[in-house]
Amino acid sequence: MWRCGGRQSLGVLRRLNGGGSSPAQPRVWREKSDDACERALQYQVGEKIHGFTINQVTSVPELFLTAVKLSHDATGARYLHLAREDTNNLFSVQFRTTPMDSTGVPHILEHTVLCGSEKYPCRDPFFKMLNRSLSTFMNAFTASDYTMYPFSTQNPKDFQNLLSVYLDATFFPCLRELDFWQEGWRLEHEDPSDPHSPLIFKGVVFNEMKGAFTDNEKIFSQHLQNKLLPDHTYSVVSGGDPLCIPELSWEQLKQFHATHYHPSNARFFTYGSFPLEQHLKQIHEEALSRFQKIEPSTTVPAQNRWDKPREFQVTCGPDSLARDASKQTTVSVSFLLPEITDTYEGFTLSLLSTLLISGPNSPFYKALIESGLGTDFSPNSGYNGHTKDAYFSIGLQGIEEKDIETVRHLVDRTIDEVVEKGFEDDRIEALLHKMEIQMKHQSTRFGLELTSYIASCWNHDGDPVELLQLGDQLTRFRQCLKENPRYLQEKMEQYFQNNQHKLTLSMKPDEMYYEKQTQMETEKLQQKLESLSEEDKQKIYEKGLELLDQQNNPPDDSCLPALKVSDIEPTMPCTELEVATSAEAVPVQYCAQPTNGMVYFRAFCSLNTLPEELRPYVPLFCSVLTKLGCGILDYREQAQQIDLKTGGMTVSPQVFGDDSDLDAYEQGVLFSSLCLDRNLPDMMHLWSEIFNNPSFEEEEHFKVLVKMVAQELSNGIPDSGHQYAFVRASRTLTSAGDLEETFNGMDQVRLMKRVAEMTDIKPVLRKLPRIKKHLLTCDNMRCSVNATPQQIAPAARELENFLRNVGRSKKELRPVRPHVVEKAVPGHCGGSSDSDGSPMIRKLVTDPTFTPCQMKTHFQLPFPVNYVAESVRTVPYTDPDHASLKILARLMTSKFLHTEIREKGGAYGGGARLSYNGIFTLYSYRDPNSIETLQTFGKAIDWAKSGKFTQQDIDEAKLSVFSAVDGPVAPSDKGMDHFLFGLSDEMKQAHREQLFAVSHDQLTAASHEYLGVGKSTHGLAILGPENVKISKDPSWVIR
Ligand SMILES: [Zn+2]
Repeated sequence: MWRCGGRQSLGVLRRLNGGGSSPAQPRVWREKSDDACERALQYQVGEKIHGFTINQVTSVPELFLTAVKLSHDATGARYLHLAREDTNNLFSVQFRTTPMDSTGVPHILEHTVLCGSEKYPCRDPFFKMLNRSLSTFMNAFTASDYTMYPFSTQNPKDFQNLLSVYLDATFFPCLRELDFWQEGWRLEHEDPSDPHSPLIFKGVVFNEMKGAFTDNEKIFSQHLQNKLLPDHTYSVVSGGDPLCIPELSWEQLKQFHATHYHPSNARFFTYGSFPLEQHLKQIHEEALSRFQKIEPSTTVPAQNRWDKPREFQVTCGPDSLARDASKQTTVSVSFLLPEITDTYEGFTLSLLSTLLISGPNSPFYKALIESGLGTDFSPNSGYNGHTKDAYFSIGLQGIEEKDIETVRHLVDRTIDEVVEKGFEDDRIEALLHKMEIQMKHQSTRFGLELTSYIASCWNHDGDPVELLQLGDQLTRFRQCLKENPRYLQEKMEQYFQNNQHKLTLSMKPDEMYYEKQTQMETEKLQQKLESLSEEDKQKIYEKGLELLDQQNNPPDDSCLPALKVSDIEPTMPCTELEVATSAEAVPVQYCAQPTNGMVYFRAFCSLNTLPEELRPYVPLFCSVLTKLGCGILDYREQAQQIDLKTGGMTVSPQVFGDDSDLDAYEQGVLFSSLCLDRNLPDMMHLWSEIFNNPSFEEEEHFKVLVKMVAQELSNGIPDSGHQYAFVRASRTLTSAGDLEETFNGMDQVRLMKRVAEMTDIKPVLRKLPRIKKHLLTCDNMRCSVNATPQQIAPAARELENFLRNVGRSKKELRPVRPHVVEKAVPGHCGGSSDSDGSPMIRKLVTDPTFTPCQMKTHFQLPFPVNYVAESVRTVPYTDPDHASLKILARLMTSKFLHTEIREKGGAYGGGARLSYNGIFTLYSYRDPNSIETLQTFGKAIDWAKSGKFTQQDIDEAKLSVFSAVDGPVAPSDKGMDHFLFGLSDEMKQAHREQLFAVSHDQLTAASHEYLGVGKSTHGLAILGPENVKISKDPSWVIR
């Protein structure tokens, strides 16, 4: 093991340390950061390793990585390794899957391969591995033309375990008929054990897709792709159209696997600091050595170009929250662009597209958004590089049907204007600056981002390495602009003005949309039922029982590899912090980190003095504060400065629970921003202007922003329904719950919808300066800076300037709620707090009279699926029972709720979770059931109380909890638990030890103590369609 790896790294060590330069002391992290890249640079083209041949080795300094391209000799499988000193190592394998019908075959296959394989025949090894591993990410995706299986982990042993399971699942799956039934579709009795109950369609993917198409943005995007690229695989729904899914047979599924999941049609990707040799050896030995090369016929031909533009109209479900039914039409104009494998052209066109639509200075924003005709851009606006031929799309949603022509006309006119006038130099500079930041900013999901970034281009045999060489592309782009000032205008002419492959797509709501869908599903069902013989029906009944039996008797999963609890680090690394007090008496936390030349600045301001009636408007205040202009800058100039000097300035409302008291919380607003080292003075100047002289005058622009916010919120409900249900269910359980609902719940969505439809918006606009007065001062502020060690001192100076400029209120403002508790944040390991304790104080609001109460809310929405949540008030973070409940939530999810809600109930997801502020929630996601799911929650609690779980189950739950607790944290986010929640490393370590110590007895005790009926207060919420049982039950509030 590690044979070749050892040899390589020795050479690197010599090169790094042997240069005669000073010893390791300075730039410790730098040296480390070169190690994996240097090692990979030693490979020679033509070198053969474990059945693979090295084809190319390229250093990509702008992303701090080395790319190694290989191919597998016997099968032709392609392989890309990106060596980078990042411990969050990632693997992915992708197959080109190009279906020619809408039965959802690639999607159902993606689900079914994860139901057991040759070496790991137990059912659902994928979900089981979630509990046997410290993975930081595990998933599978079906795109339009490929299917990808990625995972990541920081532990080398875990990487091998997961790789083994992934290889076996994808190349040697069992694909049993029952798996196909469970995951794809089946006819089954509503109650499988009752042959007299009606036969209906069931299946995980069937329900998932029904849920997916309640999202109008998804409906629009799907039609757009189908109609713009009608000649081949893009004309169908790869995920499956619920009306076509029942046409798929088990035989077809197996056939699709044989022809598509073959090494000759596969692309392997690895990323991170682990040595490549071990990966290659394992992949060759466990999978590829068993295959011979085939010629996969999965190539997508180029789309035939049209000789004249086309036009289509489609329908969707009505927007349940919009009052004005006449303004729910969407229209877009789309243009087919060159193939994405032309990487430089793709790069240019995506930059061009950003210039066209991004921010208030872009031509399409001015022409469309500011026309006031609609609420926001149409879905998929901008450059789309996920299909073989790329496309650009632009339009509006939330318009009146009669304005379709006007929007089309505006699009054409804008294109003509850009062809004529081009772009301002400053905007191009701002865009290139943004690219520089994107390359330097480090996220913890960088491996995943890279594999997603290259997936489409590589899928069609484009060069993934070329795609990563952003530096070269930027240089070439600058050169082109220099040589030809009309460079971008000529592109506009070529691809927009003179392009006949142009599609106008409009979509309007149909009041009967869901009824019609249901009608078609019923007809489909009738058709299926009519063709059944008595014998078939008997078989269906028997198979239903067989599936139920399989679900009730989980097979032995001891064949799966697993980490042990002893593989988890007993202690956590500490984060070095300094907390200092500024001249304005504002505490500032400094955290020195390897940030690649970026500075991250945050400030938190308390809302304690804000009058109650202004609180619902705080989220809106936050959304618009950095977008309305400040000082001498109008909103356009301000946007320009933000783009030129920063990587973003955002403001968000926050409710932070307390670590030791459920009824104490901090309420405030968080200001977050980042910039390159050199731009810090400019960024802090912008913050000064925003704090001191924000403009609240531009009424027209304010209206535009409000509409966009409201549209975004209501579009987000299908994806985040479970969160809205959770917030609502916990609303009456703690004193912070009500504020959560005001800021982040359905109440906020409704308020924003209402504001967006006001004819006179002035009264709302006038509230903003009042909020400002209470919020934007140094009175109740704390700040944090994450930067490289060298930048800490300059940053401190800039920060002093900023705080002096902002200053404190002239007269003292009193807290609105009488009970405010001051709580010092405990010092931190390595930190040197002021001699007399920490200067960081949190001002917590409490309400001694608060009594939790039960509330059941049903939000009626016209979706065919439900989001169900039941929340229970438990204990705060520092209580040892908190640790037990955290493990219990995981245990209930994997050992009970997953089976009952997903496998049997047919919901897309479901489980239990414990929030930091002590709310224990059981939930389901895109669920065909509602009341039944609440009964399942009850059974889950009984199951927990009965203690019918083993030590192995507990250990697995611990692994799963720790994979989240020990998840990687980016340099920009180090120390945030301390800054935001007041948690020191010592407190986190204490919690860690409580987690390790959780025992069987503690788990059953906690279930009895908190979850049982009559023990703690429960709250319930359902988002979903009209429900007869609920409307008959007076204990439910229907909204
Ligand atoms: Zn799926």
